[in-house]
Amino acid sequence: MRYHSTNNPNHRVDLKEAIIRSLPPDNGLYMPDTLPTLGSDFWSSFRTLDFHEIGMAVASAFFGEDVPSPALRDIVTGTLEFDAPVHSLAPDDHILELFHGPTLAFKDFGARFMARLMAWLTRHDDHLLTVLVATSGDTGGAVASAFHNVPGTRVVILYPQGKVSGLQEKQLTALGGNITALEIDGSFDDCQALVKSAFLDRELSEQYNLTSANSINLSRLVPQSFYYIHAARQLDEGTKPVFVIPSGNFGNLTAGLLAMKLGLPVEHFVAATNRNDVVPEYLQTGDYQPRPSQPTISNAMDVGAPSNFVRMQAIFGNSWETMKSHISGSSYSDDETRAAIREINARFGYQIDPHGAVGWLAARDFRASHPGTTTITLETAHPSKFPDVMDAELGAGKVEIPERLAILADREKVATPLGIGTRDFHHWLRATL
Ligand SMILES: *Cc1c(COP(=O)(O)O)cnc(C)c1O
Repeated sequence: MRYHSTNNPNHRVDLKEAIIRSLPPDNGLYMPDTLPTLGSDFWSSFRTLDFHEIGMAVASAFFGEDVPSPALRDIVTGTLEFDAPVHSLAPDDHILELFHGPTLAFKDFGARFMARLMAWLTRHDDHLLTVLVATSGDTGGAVASAFHNVPGTRVVILYPQGKVSGLQEKQLTALGGNITALEIDGSFDDCQALVKSAFLDRELSEQYNLTSANSINLSRLVPQSFYYIHAARQLDEGTKPVFVIPSGNFGNLTAGLLAMKLGLPVEHFVAATNRNDVVPEYLQTGDYQPRPSQPTISNAMDVGAPSNFVRMQAIFGNSWETMKSHISGSSYSDDETRAAIREINARFGYQIDPHGAVGWLAARDFRASHPGTTTITLETAHPSKFPDVMDAELGAGKVEIPERLAILADREKVATPLGIGTRDFHHWLRATL
């Protein structure tokens, strides 16, 4: 399979370049030249397949030309070490729980697949693949966990000293092995500037096989389409779901569109946002107006210029009418989100995080305006990741911290302190890598 840039169909690269480079030099996004489909054999029996079999079929459709089956099977198996169960609140109101991974958010699926695919693609390179990542908290944790113990890879995380929460810091610094943390005496922006300086130094970047494992890497989207299919098969036969996706950069929703293109029967998609509502506004008016993001309690969705929007446009042939016929949008305030967290707890005894709560509101409103439809709302993170909001709405300590996160508290932090000087950082890389 060849891949092209959304900015220039003539800039075409192979799988390794699309994945390791992550972003085309023209600032577009990589897309496969053709979007694969799965045949009627698959769709007539998909309800009987398990999560791994679905993952393997989808991964083969995308990467089977370039990656032999046994390697792909290892990548899929290593990715899907946890389930994505559907929890039903009512016969027409379902929640797809995507937080059963090691860092308690859906990003574990994409990051784990990307780590394993990158390791395979670089297996014959002279140097280990080195992922450089600057983090203000969560992203670094998901990337570190995904690459932890993956042979042929190592991760260097830069985080701002004193500016991440205690448990977040443990997620970055307590894994050991192939994960190294640099505690930078500066801000998140300083960390980002350091990472950028290393990529700009061509010699350093090529000699040490540096990659960014960027969040818009195509290899993160494909595994996210696995769970749309896995969710649909958990509903009663004949039910065509409406998927409701709490969205920020719209990677998760784009993965749903890939699943639809593969042939999954989907009734409709609903893009649910907080007051950063650039896409719902576009769906209503046809006018796309990116703008600075505004802070909310569902902060992983505080995005004013969603990076995957151009992929969504490409999938719909750049037609607003076509996109609108498949996706509706709605946005909600923090007050509405807080009320939803309380209501879902009171009515169903279910604890939902602020991102999932935004989705649930959009699902409720969609069902009200489209009677007879069945919604699956993606619950993108475990509520224990947002203790301030959950404690305020449900009472202090009501949400339990899953053990896989809680055990980190007792682990030892190991981090190398470093200043914000570029020369010191490059020197450290050359001396250490
Ligand atoms: C990243 C994230 C989102 C937004 O997902 P996109 O793919 O960027 O739209 C939603 N909820 C949580 C908890 C996240 O971490």
